[in-house]
Amino acid sequence: MPELPEVETIRRDLVGPLVGHSVSHLEVRDPRLVAPRGAALLERSLCGQKWQAIERKGKYLDVLLADGSHLIFHLRMTGQLVLRSWKAAQQGGILEKPLGSPYRMLLQFDHGFSLAFFDQRRFGEVFYLRPGRPWPGEKALGPDALNGLSREDFIARLKSKTTRVKPLLMDQHFLAGIGNIYAQEALFRAGIRPTRRAHRLTRSEADRLYDALHVTLLGAIKHRGSTSRNYRDALGHRGSAQDLHAVYRKGGQPCLRCGTTLRAIRLGGRGTVYCPVCQH
Ligand SMILES: [Zn+2]
Repeated sequence: MPELPEVETIRRDLVGPLVGHSVSHLEVRDPRLVAPRGAALLERSLCGQKWQAIERKGKYLDVLLADGSHLIFHLRMTGQLVLRSWKAAQQGGILEKPLGSPYRMLLQFDHGFSLAFFDQRRFGEVFYLRPGRPWPGEKALGPDALNGLSREDFIARLKSKTTRVKPLLMDQHFLAGIGNIYAQEALFRAGIRPTRRAHRLTRSEADRLYDALHVTLLGAIKHRGSTSRNYRDALGHRGSAQDLHAVYRKGGQPCLRCGTTLRAIRLGGRGTVYCPVCQH
């Protein structure tokens, strides 16, 4: 499932080619994504509106349009946004072939680019907000894990929660953008067991966790995200951040730091791996 680094990689891929341009045609193939009447309405609302900015809030991509409306994507489990352009394909680099399943939606732009939304499991979401309309999910969304929170705020928020630290990091109301991969990797980097209660972390542990989150997320963005299954960047390529993983899906393997066998547990219903020696 794409987390903050994967969505950020896609965002950066889309900004250059698409900002300053507008959609000229919209095709919705999957009525579960946008109902047929909604598709016609969406096309009327989008067409001719320049894309002014593409931002990210946690795992959401937020496109700001010239009239102040927003087009918002959430990739959920298997969503992929892939840029396509015949011209660019001839120059190399931009993927032309669909990725296994047909696209659910296709946005065609006035300058020959198109953006296809693929989504094998069909849990992904697209929604449109008229100018001035509040975003329903926004209030429920915590501060962005990379851009939204100072060290002191992060530590104060940890101190106020008695839940276990790993599910807390993955709770989008607490912090937006972290999922099962980067929660485990950041906790390994910080030397903290995933089962620890958040309010029991010492000041230096909380400090280390704040730093570990940033280093882990920035490292993953630098490597264009983790492709463990479906994730592709907006050019249709795999990321390489999975090569940096120390614990994610590595239960039973030796710890990279100390050689001890990594332990796999279930925590909050999710597979979780940690080193019983390096993480306290
Ligand atoms: Zn270890």
